[in-house]
Amino acid sequence: MTTALLVENLSVAYGRVEALRGISLRVEAGETVSLLGNNGAGKSTTVAAISGIARASGGRVSAFGEDITNAKPWDLVHRGIIHVPEGRRIFPRLTVQENLQIGGHAVKDNKLIASRIAEVYDLLPRLAERSNQQGGTLSGGEQQMLAIGRGMIAGPKLLMLDEPSMGLAPLMVAQVMELVRSISAQGTSVLLIEQNARSALKVASRGYVLDSGLIA
Ligand code: ATP
Repeated sequence: MTTALLVENLSVAYGRVEALRGISLRVEAGETVSLLGNNGAGKSTTVAAISGIARASGGRVSAFGEDITNAKPWDLVHRGIIHVPEGRRIFPRLTVQENLQIGGHAVKDNKLIASRIAEVYDLLPRLAERSNQQGGTLSGGEQQMLAIGRGMIAGPKLLMLDEPSMGLAPLMVAQVMELVRSISAQGTSVLLIEQNARSALKVASRGYVLDSGLIA
């Protein structure tokens, strides 16, 4: 089995703050793995470093057998390594459909983008019903679904979701986790960042606990 993501001794410092102090973790192809931890543990920093947003000061990151340490975010998107950031960050003034289309900016084939959007609508009928509605007018849960749906348009091989359940009511959390399960069933490898260990471990096969920049 190939390894989708291999993080070895990764360190990240923001000035004097050592946010990650040599962490190692692994996601096998097709696996869903959860990264758990309290506020400030370094979860977002981990995904930021993997996706080229934060700079690794030490260690190594590889994906599907290739070294991607400190690769550029757009290069990673082309390799199918997709990061859905914390806090949804959809485009509030654009419609649902337009938000999804933006997820396909690295995909040159318009037919492929259209068929992936159709797949997302099949999976998420609430978005289909609201395709012409402005993103900012969706409920929090719908916005989270849209953010994940947008990530799916890029055709992810490895999808990294940063706290998708944050601020959502329990029923909505369950629906987000159901979506993660469906994405995983399609063969996508998933790194699921969560504070909500109970729901994350229902969909993940394994989990790592991060505490003050170290795997506990
Ligand atoms: P949360 O669940 O609250 O989002 P987290 O586990 O994702 O927390 P990080 O956001 O990775 O934690 O932060 C880890 C540490 O790095 C914290 O101490 C934080 O203050 C610090 N940090 C994060 N980003 C920066 C930055 N841009 N500049 C300085 N320090 C930062």
